[in-house]
Amino acid sequence: MAASIFPSYPPSISSKQSSYLLKSFIDWSLFNGLSVRPLQAENQNGALAVHAPVTLFPSPFPRACFEEAKAVQIWFNELYARIAADEEWLLKIVDELIEVDDFMARLYKVHLDVKKEGFVQDLSLGIFRSDYLIHVDPLSPTSPPIIHQVEFNTISVSFGGLATRVSELHRHLLRMGAYPSATANLLKQKNIPLDPSAKEIANALAAAHKAYGLGGSGRNTAILFIIQDDERNIFDQRLIEYNLLENHDIQCYRITIQQVPDLITLDPVTYALIYHPPHDDGVHMEISTAYFRSCYGPEDFHSETDWVSRTTIERSKAIKCPSVITQLAGAKKVQQVLAMEGTVERFLPDTSISTRVQNTFAAIYPLDTSSAGLAARDLALNNPEKYVLKPQREGGGNNIYRSKIPDFLKSIPESHWSSYILMELIEPPSLGNSIVRNGIITTGEVICELGIFGAVLWRNGKGLESGKGIKEIVVNEETGWLLRTKGRDSEEGGVAAGFGSVDGILLV
Ligand code: ADP
Ligand code: MG
Ligand code: MG
Repeated sequence: MAASIFPSYPPSISSKQSSYLLKSFIDWSLFNGLSVRPLQAENQNGALAVHAPVTLFPSPFPRACFEEAKAVQIWFNELYARIAADEEWLLKIVDELIEVDDFMARLYKVHLDVKKEGFVQDLSLGIFRSDYLIHVDPLSPTSPPIIHQVEFNTISVSFGGLATRVSELHRHLLRMGAYPSATANLLKQKNIPLDPSAKEIANALAAAHKAYGLGGSGRNTAILFIIQDDERNIFDQRLIEYNLLENHDIQCYRITIQQVPDLITLDPVTYALIYHPPHDDGVHMEISTAYFRSCYGPEDFHSETDWVSRTTIERSKAIKCPSVITQLAGAKKVQQVLAMEGTVERFLPDTSISTRVQNTFAAIYPLDTSSAGLAARDLALNNPEKYVLKPQREGGGNNIYRSKIPDFLKSIPESHWSSYILMELIEPPSLGNSIVRNGIITTGEVICELGIFGAVLWRNGKGLESGKGIKEIVVNEETGWLLRTKGRDSEEGGVAAGFGSVDGILLV
């Protein structure tokens, strides 16, 4: 483990100070919707909420790393938009995966089925998140820390809502004097940046909505959130929805993929996606944008009908956030191929840009039968301590770490190994903080993962089918950030899964 970049953190506080701080923390969080739904079965009609797991203090984060992560986001946006628009290149990678990965194969089939009849919407929206850990070169521990990318997400990125609230919470605690005055030298408003993610993500959806236009037949238009049933992280999503309503006067509806057959129709002539609100008889809303906050993994698809529903949405004129092909572009395998020399330049030919993008990459290897893949197989089986093995899955909890890698690989058919990637473990410097979960404070060593949100709306060139690339980038923005913090002992940082917390940034 690298030495601490910020020793003696969090500030030590007395038990009186701690209980005052906790009370202020809980009240502000509940009052302002920095909350999640609890698990309990007795949460009748979803009436109960609990504060979200959040750090008591913002975590110190090197300013230069933060600025660089923000600066490269628009290039990552463009990179992934260009990959999604280069079908020929992308599908060569996907072709290899679908032989052994059923979920990727199903997604691919949706794309192909729609391609057969032609795409009726040339606009595509990506709301992305690029995730980083801080890396210190072990051979040169005094050199400045840099960011290393953990992964790039192209579907259902979460916490854009709550992350805004966390930055407001930490600023509030400071302003109201809940942090002891002895910490005044350390904790300063100007070093706790206000996170614009909730508003900016809503702005991106609004831009897509406006670009869609008024729709046909004089119908009203709305944005459709495709969600999971019993979503616990509901307020994160609601915050984006409320921003859309309040700042843009755009209505949103929320349905699961299972509800599509009952509530959605496709206009056979215009391919408009029409939503029929069950609470409002006779009303038909034309959907401008289908925003996926689900459907990123096989668990969200319960039956063949759900795949038909996903295909219906893809066929429609609604702008997809993301399209199936954009979802496929986010495969871990694509990240591994991008880490190979020369790949980024294919999409971002300006080397001053591609170099900065590449500088964020950690080592990632294929596990196929290429020479690099065979060498990586040897590492994975015989020297796995510095590596993590990743399948083509999203949502946390899927990786295999260190010494567990060899047995895991031996437990699956060798023909499936190529659908995994082997990644060097990034070991960030040590840091302390306190995480509050269900009203209980736990203090200890933590790891902070920075996510930068990005939004890109682009118009595909004629013939997306033949991979003709992008005609126009309409919007390309960095749209705020998320810091997730987990105890150092836990390998995965899933906040919703119960390991991690949402954090705020203290620039140092
Ligand atoms: P997912 O799409 O499931 O979120 P990730 O690649 O983000 O997959 O992996 C999940 C978690 O595993 C990350 O949030 C991080 O905590 C840990 N992790 C993944 N890759 C690395 C790595 N190279 N070094 C250290 N930790 C990692
Ligand atoms: Mg992911
Ligand atoms: Mg992740």
